[in-house]
Amino acid sequence: MTDWMKAAQSQEESYLKDLTTLLEIPSVRDDQAATDEYPLGPMPAKALQEFLKMAKNDGFRTKSIDNLVGYAEWGEGDETLAILAHLDVMPAGKGWETDPFKPVIKDGKLYARGASDDKGPGMACYYALKYLKDQGVKFNKKVRFIVGTDEESNWTGMHRYFEVEPAPTLGFSPDAEFPVINGEKGQFSLLLDVPAGNEGTARLKSFKSGLRFNMVPREAVAEITTSDKEKVMSAFGQFIDENPVTGQIEETMDGLKITVIGKAAHGMEPEKGINAATYLALFLNQYDFAGGAASFIKFLAEYLHLDTRMKKFNSAFTDNVMGELTMNAGILNFTEENGGKINMNFRYPKGITPDEIQEKVEQVTKPLKITVNQGEGQEPHYVDPKDQIVKTLMKAYTDISGDQDAKPEVVGGGTYGRLMKRGVAFGALMPNTPNTMHQANEFQPVDDLITSMAIYMQAINDLVTD
Ligand SMILES: [Zn+2]
Repeated sequence: MTDWMKAAQSQEESYLKDLTTLLEIPSVRDDQAATDEYPLGPMPAKALQEFLKMAKNDGFRTKSIDNLVGYAEWGEGDETLAILAHLDVMPAGKGWETDPFKPVIKDGKLYARGASDDKGPGMACYYALKYLKDQGVKFNKKVRFIVGTDEESNWTGMHRYFEVEPAPTLGFSPDAEFPVINGEKGQFSLLLDVPAGNEGTARLKSFKSGLRFNMVPREAVAEITTSDKEKVMSAFGQFIDENPVTGQIEETMDGLKITVIGKAAHGMEPEKGINAATYLALFLNQYDFAGGAASFIKFLAEYLHLDTRMKKFNSAFTDNVMGELTMNAGILNFTEENGGKINMNFRYPKGITPDEIQEKVEQVTKPLKITVNQGEGQEPHYVDPKDQIVKTLMKAYTDISGDQDAKPEVVGGGTYGRLMKRGVAFGALMPNTPNTMHQANEFQPVDDLITSMAIYMQAINDLVTD
């Protein structure tokens, strides 16, 4: 039997070199720079082109589809095993100790935006496939390693792939954690509109917080006017002392600018972050705002604050297999001219529907004159743990990691695994490694990346030779 760990270690040097090339490309979706040729801005496409160039040089058949998605292919057979990874990254955000696009290894950890989500794991999986190809393993099916460039927003690339290519029904996505994720919650957003209007003794000129709906906002900034600046400034000092946030308050021409810093986290685990926006609203809620400004602040402070499980909306729900309904308030903006916009993003198990959740939210928002619209979403997804793909992947993970107690699990979703009937997410975050995806100072231990490569080697090998 092949020693997969040894095989993976033999690839470490060239893997890190190719990975570094990709990590240095700031492949963040940029709608402002979008053109017909580069619908997501030039950088995600640049990462895609760079990857396809590597794969071509490595001897794979490659194809780019509209600069949005591409693949490297090997093997022949009636069946296709699809591996779905992505080359786009979240915006770096603030709070980094190193340059997010200049990868560095410190204490055995590789730091860079994308080290953990998803360039590091994606390339570990690609190297596993490349190793098997180079060893001359005879594949009994076709393997397509497909890379999207818009996973962090709308999945534009992967959706394009499924429009124009035969849809694979079997596969996995190395874009989550070990062991196997065989269930993903459904996902959708409620988009709230808060009226303008602002006639109180205190006025909210603007409120700005959040970069993405699927991220807990780390920073919130409000500009207000008030009759008593001194009093607000001293109250803010006390507020900061008493709450798990930092912040600052400055005088402006006609008022105050208040900044609160919390902690970013992935929107599918919002309880792990500290939502700067709801803390800032909590502070402002003691002052005499009026109209839409008052509704906006009240809604954040009295409902969204510390309520990722929807208890204050009487909508808490748990399914035995798929777990809890969770909510992240990821984008929260207000201007006195245009009013407010709030994005509440939900991850829901089977047993509850978006319409039911919307109804509960409207019971709260109606008296505040806030209107609610439902965005597009995804249904919950579940693959039987007895399915061959789940069993094969679980075996590769337990054989190599030695973690015999591991069980397939359900998460807040949504990974690319859900795109395929028999699709799951598989790696590459190890159970005891901190999850830094979407955060400042994102990292993945190099040893973990190499171990995951070994796991992918055994998994792909077993899937293409069974
Ligand atoms: Zn990802």
